[in-house]
Amino acid sequence: MAGSYVSPFSSYDNVGDSENLHKKLLDFRCSICNKHLSVPPIDHLKNEGMRCGRCSYIPLELAERASIFERTAAEMSFPCSFKNCHEILRWGEVHMHEIICPKRDFECPFLCDKLNKSDEMLNHFMTEHHEKKLGSQWKIQVRTEDFSVFFFEHEGDLYVVRCFTSKQKAAFDVFTYATPMNSPMFELAITSSDAATATIMDQNVSCIRTFPTCWKCFMRSCQNKYHVGDLGGSGTNVANSFLRRMLGSAGRLSCELDIRVG
Ligand SMILES: [Zn+2]
Ligand SMILES: [Zn+2]
Ligand SMILES: [Zn+2]
Ligand SMILES: [Zn+2]
Repeated sequence: MAGSYVSPFSSYDNVGDSENLHKKLLDFRCSICNKHLSVPPIDHLKNEGMRCGRCSYIPLELAERASIFERTAAEMSFPCSFKNCHEILRWGEVHMHEIICPKRDFECPFLCDKLNKSDEMLNHFMTEHHEKKLGSQWKIQVRTEDFSVFFFEHEGDLYVVRCFTSKQKAAFDVFTYATPMNSPMFELAITSSDAATATIMDQNVSCIRTFPTCWKCFMRSCQNKYHVGDLGGSGTNVANSFLRRMLGSAGRLSCELDIRVG
């Protein structure tokens, strides 16, 4: 179904009018992230609207590839989508630039609606979300359903820890804002009240720059109608049966996180 696609050529008899055509292309926005359609692949959504390549990790029903749009856009330049950045980039360069853009801002994982650059994040957390700072140990209650996000400092680097518990499992994710040369790993030791310990070794720390995640989805408070499925990510799962076997009766447990780089 191509019904929702309006060719950018449709109102132009003179295709050579490239300045107007460029303006027209900049009017098209991704239905999901509302950014310019400047990162391929560009797809028509089955129901209505279009999706840019930044959002292609979101599983949606597609109509078809917007190849006419792509071919036209390939001749154009587009602005970086971060508001304080003034870079103008050729088609094909936008995505790589935006991954490393120094003006890139991030949503706060504590859902305060403030946007911060990665190097401002630690300061933001310390001043506005200090109660979310993890010490070397913290407690979880694995029998109840709970979503929690914390931050953690290790050797001057900032990490965000996400923890989900339910009757069936506990799941953990660790994220970094940095682009480390060596991929950091984390190790998590879980200890019961009677001092039995289970250790989860060698789990990858996810890089927030390249691993798209929606904190609102994770906290089950997302209003974006396109965010279907689990955009919160799955994490490292620990089944409660495993915890019970390892630790006796799995109830209130103490967690200890360690980060290793290199
Ligand atoms: Zn998008
Ligand atoms: Zn930029
Ligand atoms: Zn915040
Ligand atoms: Zn979401």
